[in-house]
Amino acid sequence: SRRSVTPNSRTNSGSDYEEDRGRVRVAVRLRPKNAEDIILDSDFADCVELQPELKRLKLRKNNWTSESYRFDEVFTETASQKRVYEVVAKPVVESVLNGYSGTVMAYGQTGTGKTYTLGKLGKDDASERGIMARALEDILASVSASDCVEVSYFQLYMECIQDLLAPEKINIPINEDPKTGEISLPGASVVKVQNLDQFSQLLQIGEANRHAANTKLNTESSRSHAILMVYIRRSVHEKVEDGITSWEKVPRTTLSGSNAIPLIRKSKLLIVDLAGSERIDKSGSEGHLLEEAKFINLSLTSLGKCINALAENSPHIPLRDSKLTRLLRDSFGGSARTSLIITIGPSARHYAETTSSVMFGQRAIKIVNMVKLKEE
Ligand code: ADP
Repeated sequence: SRRSVTPNSRTNSGSDYEEDRGRVRVAVRLRPKNAEDIILDSDFADCVELQPELKRLKLRKNNWTSESYRFDEVFTETASQKRVYEVVAKPVVESVLNGYSGTVMAYGQTGTGKTYTLGKLGKDDASERGIMARALEDILASVSASDCVEVSYFQLYMECIQDLLAPEKINIPINEDPKTGEISLPGASVVKVQNLDQFSQLLQIGEANRHAANTKLNTESSRSHAILMVYIRRSVHEKVEDGITSWEKVPRTTLSGSNAIPLIRKSKLLIVDLAGSERIDKSGSEGHLLEEAKFINLSLTSLGKCINALAENSPHIPLRDSKLTRLLRDSFGGSARTSLIITIGPSARHYAETTSSVMFGQRAIKIVNMVKLKEE
């Protein structure tokens, strides 16, 4: 059955990340100090203490140090983009290539490295590439010529979905197949990706459109969620070994003239650069800004509520409360594989925001059984 463990998740051991499906894997990444941190924080100790070998971190304020919190991985400020990709996203990408849906999300305060971690293109230096580019690189290298890789790229702002590849499309509806529950975005651009250069160009266009749209709306991109959806359609032969089902790439030569009819396997990868998790100061927010704060809170707050409900094994998961959680419905389904990366800064000035992000990660790591997902 499709629920069985794939050989991939067995053979690529060596990391706790590979252990079990159905659990949200959560990593924390600390951003290196920037000039502002160095100047403004010179009188303070850092507010986080990492214990990477134990995969733990502690929070610090004045003379007080918290208990240590365990994650699936704790990345210090020197962790490379490559390592972050390999630990956080690669298992998800491999799972998607095997027909499961997968999600990689970044959560954290604005300026802590969400976009750096996910969207960095690394045009001049390939070692700087983020998760999006590396994921596409791996996917394109794994599929055969007869397979199809397509992407959509959009932003969710004030509960409106705007196409970042065709910015005139500003209010794309979410469609839910009544039978399968599958989520789609009718009308959103879906672009076939042939190679990494072309993908980088798409991402660049998307970023430029995001910037232009947000300038027009007089807001910052940190207030919208940017979502890359990758659709993969593969011709595969089912292989059963030791009761474990997996799919093999159909060798190009057997595509015509072979007796075995390949199955068409569809899967989807979501890479989500969430809006900044900091609370907008209500006292300073009026009119449009206040409205915006409420809406941003709607999607992020409902994500938090769903994570809490899942962590507590609650019978009711309020996935329908916002567009973000509706889009992430598959991410919390039984066979999905989901990774969350929490980005934090070192600065004592942001102790409250850092604590809140760490706590969000601690709740998400408690989600152990998504198979029994129910929703109302
Ligand atoms: P966010 O998306 O969370 O608002 P960004 O990704 O835009 O944050 O990062 C803010 C700044 O910090 C950018 O200039 C980015 O290049 C830099 N930065 C973030 N994380 C790292 C890192 N791990 N190493 C080097 N620079 C980083």
